[in-house]
Amino acid sequence: SVTAHADADYTIATDTTFAPFEFQVKGGQYRGIDIDLLKAIAKKEHFTYQLKALSFNAAVQQLSANQVDGVIAGMNITSAREATFDFSKPYYTSGVVMAVAQKSPIETMANLKGKTVALKTGTAGATYAKSVQAKYGFKIKYFNDSNNMYNDVKVGNSVACFEDYPVMSYGIKNGIPLKIVSKQHDAGDYGFAVKKGKNAKLLRQFNAGLAAIKADGTYDKIINHYLHAKE
Ligand code: GLN
Repeated sequence: SVTAHADADYTIATDTTFAPFEFQVKGGQYRGIDIDLLKAIAKKEHFTYQLKALSFNAAVQQLSANQVDGVIAGMNITSAREATFDFSKPYYTSGVVMAVAQKSPIETMANLKGKTVALKTGTAGATYAKSVQAKYGFKIKYFNDSNNMYNDVKVGNSVACFEDYPVMSYGIKNGIPLKIVSKQHDAGDYGFAVKKGKNAKLLRQFNAGLAAIKADGTYDKIINHYLHAKE
């Protein structure tokens, strides 16, 4: 389990709910691909850390304010973010998709005119939707976490949301009553982030540990575990 050491080498922030990358299980513990990768990497590289679960946007803001040392939260490596953060080698491929309620007649972004779309603050999905908002003429409502965003679509307040494909498809498999209606829009692979020019040692350790767990099969074991298991 992830132990909160008062004297940990690092504080690493993650998202509150972003299955299968991070999610809380009974008893409040965090599990998921990011959590297990970090744990395995820390073990290889002999560092300790305290995990801090925040909204994705708060995690990114705390990293830029030097309040945490790193973020692992299914975070896309984008050129805009590279102005502020240094990223590890990519560890997972992802893209942004549009999802609607199971029985929704909406099939394309052209159907969004005058309607409200739910977005998660500070995410690549939100950036993508903003970039096409003027073209398709929809309104935007922001949420701090994925579950509340899905729920707004589920209850019909919003007609669509934009989310990462691996997260949306995992959620749907595990009972979220939405459907994906678009192809994946490229948003960059996932990487572990530190503040630009800071924590170079931690970044080196992450990359070295990632290479080691890829080489010894641990990486594949973690991915397969979550892609074939239920929440
Ligand atoms: N992958 C998306 C991003 O980097 C969303 C991450 C998240 O919501 N945890 O913006």
